[in-house]
Amino acid sequence: MSTKGIVTGIISNLVTVEVDGPVAQNEICFINIGDTKLMAEVIKVNAGNAFVQVYESTRGLKPGDTVDFNGHMLEVQLGPGMLSSNYDGLQNNLATMEGVFLKKGEYTAPLDAEKEWEFTPIAVKGDKVKAASWLAEVKEGWLPHKIMVPFSFEGEYTVKEVKPAGKYKINDTVAVLIDSKGEEVPVTMVQKWPVKVAIKNYVDKPRPYKIMETGVRIIDTLNPIAEGGTGFIPGPFGCGKTVLQHALAKQAEADVIIMAACGERANEVVEIFAEFPELVDPRTGRSLMERTTIICNTSNMPVAAREASVYTAMTIGEYYRAMGLRVLLLADSTSRWAQALREMSNRMEELPGADGFPVDLPAIISNFYSRAGIVTLPNGATGSVTFIGTVSPAGGNLKEPVTESTKKAARCFYALSQNRADKKRYPSVDPIDSYSKYIEYPEIVDYLTKKIGERWVPNVLEAKNLIIRGKEAFEQINILGDDGVPMEYHLRYWKSELIDFIILQQDAFDSIDANTPLERQEFMLDKVLEICRMNKEFDDFEECTAFYKKVINVMRQMNYSEWKSENFNKYLAELENLIKNN
Ligand code: ADP
Ligand code: MG
Repeated sequence: MSTKGIVTGIISNLVTVEVDGPVAQNEICFINIGDTKLMAEVIKVNAGNAFVQVYESTRGLKPGDTVDFNGHMLEVQLGPGMLSSNYDGLQNNLATMEGVFLKKGEYTAPLDAEKEWEFTPIAVKGDKVKAASWLAEVKEGWLPHKIMVPFSFEGEYTVKEVKPAGKYKINDTVAVLIDSKGEEVPVTMVQKWPVKVAIKNYVDKPRPYKIMETGVRIIDTLNPIAEGGTGFIPGPFGCGKTVLQHALAKQAEADVIIMAACGERANEVVEIFAEFPELVDPRTGRSLMERTTIICNTSNMPVAAREASVYTAMTIGEYYRAMGLRVLLLADSTSRWAQALREMSNRMEELPGADGFPVDLPAIISNFYSRAGIVTLPNGATGSVTFIGTVSPAGGNLKEPVTESTKKAARCFYALSQNRADKKRYPSVDPIDSYSKYIEYPEIVDYLTKKIGERWVPNVLEAKNLIIRGKEAFEQINILGDDGVPMEYHLRYWKSELIDFIILQQDAFDSIDANTPLERQEFMLDKVLEICRMNKEFDDFEECTAFYKKVINVMRQMNYSEWKSENFNKYLAELENLIKNN
C-alpha cells in the first residue's frame, strides 16, 4: 500500500502534509485538487509530517485536500527520441504543449510511443550482461543510440533473446534476459532513472586527460577545457555569454549537446527556442537540433521545477555518455538554479548561509559538477559529459556565494569582462582573470605535448606572461604618458596587443574566423611569439607602434582568410617581409 496524506498547511509552494505511513526524502507525491493532480517532491520529513514542494502553482489548494505518495523519486524517462526535443525541468515535452508554460496539472509524455525505430541487435543469446550493457542500437538522427540493460538492474543476467533487426516502438519488448534466479525479465527501449542520483555504470572515471577542441582560441590556446571537464562563465548581461555558448554548441568536439536553460527570464528562454533551431551543425550542414536536447525553465515557473531542470539535463547527459558518446552540457544560468535552492531553503526556515543561500550550497554545487567526467565503460569504450555553466552574478560581483562556490567546483573559469565588451574585444573573456586548471595536469600536458609538440605548453605560458606584462605597461603608459616611460614599456604593451588582436579576439560572425582548428591555432601562436621574441630595437615609440600596427593588420587578414588559401599565403608572405625588413 502506498502512503497517503492530508494537507495541513500551505505557504506558497511549500505544503505540509500529515502522512499515514512512511515517506522518503525526495519522494514524489500528487496532491489532489478536484480532478487535477499537482506533482510535488518531499523535501523534509519528520514524525508523521512531510514537507513537500509543489512543482506548480498551489492556487486553490486547501487544508484537508488529499495526497498520494508514489514511492519513487523524481525520474526521467530515457530512450530514443530525446534529441531534437524541448523539455521543461520535469521532462514535459514542450512541443506538445501550447507555449512554453506548464498548465496546471498537465504533464506530457517525454517520448513518442508510436514512432518506429530501425533496430539492430548487438548482444546475442547466451551473452552475460549487466546494467548499462549494450543490447542493441537504433539510429537517432545520425547518432548511434544504444539500447542498454536498464541502469537499475543489479547483478548479472544472461541474454535469452534480442529481437532481430527491424522496426520497433519504444515500449515493445526488444530483449529478454534471465536473472540469477532463472526468471525471465523483459527489456524495452525505455527506462526510468531518478534525476538526483548519478548514473554510475562505468568501470573507471579517471581525471580528464584530453582536450576538447572548441575552435575558440582564447579557450583552446590559452585556457583549454578537457573532455569530461568542467568550466563556468560568469558575465554581466550583454557581454557575450550567449554568443560564446552557441559557438561551443556548434564547434566543440561533442556528439550530443544538452542545453539547460534554467530560470533565465522568459524572453531569453524563448530566444533559445528561436535561435537553436537556426544553428547549423558544421559537421553535417544540417540543423544542430538533430543532436541537441533543450531543457528549459523560466523564472516564472515554480521553484522546484526550476531546481529540477539541471538534474534532468545532467541525467540525460549521463545516459548518452553510457552509450560511449561525447556529451557537452551547457547550463544558462546556474545562478537561477541557486536562487531556486535559496527560495526553497528560506521557505523551510532553514538557518541561512551567506546571502541567504542554503548552508550546503558549496556542497550541492560541487556534487553537481562532479557528475561530469570522462568514463571508461564496461566494454572498454569511453564516454564523457563536459559541463560548462554560466553564472550571472548580481552587479558583476564575483565575490558572491554562487560564483565563489562554483569557482571551487569548476576547473575552468572564463570571466567575461564588461570592459572588454565595451571595447568590442570579443569574446570578452578576460585573459588575466580567466584560467584553466587542466593546463597544470600532467596528463593534459602530456597529451598536448604528444598532439602538438614539446614547445606548446611553454609557449602558452609565455603568451600568458606577455599579456600580464603588457597590462602592467599599459597602466604605466596611461599614467606617465607616452614619453614618460622607457621604450621597453611600449614594446611590452604592443606585444600584448598583438596577442590580444590575433589570438584572443575572434569574430563569431565571420565564417572563417569563428572556428579555428587546433593546427591553425598552433601556427598563429608560433608566429605571434616569433615576432614577440625578435627583440627588435626601435628608435622611438612611434616606430614601434607603426610596426606592430602593420603586423596586427596583416595577421588579422590572415585570420579572416581560409587556412592555407592563396589569400592566406599572400598575407603570410607580406608578414614575413615585414619581419625580415625590421
Ligand atoms: P549575453 O548573452 O551575455 O547577454 P550576447 O551573447 O547576446 O550577450 O552578446 C551581446 C552582443 O555582443 C552580441 O549581439 C554581439 O553583437 C556581440 N558579440 C559577443 N560575442 C561576439 C563575438 N565573439 N564576435 C562578435 N560579436 C560578439
Ligand atoms: Mg544571453
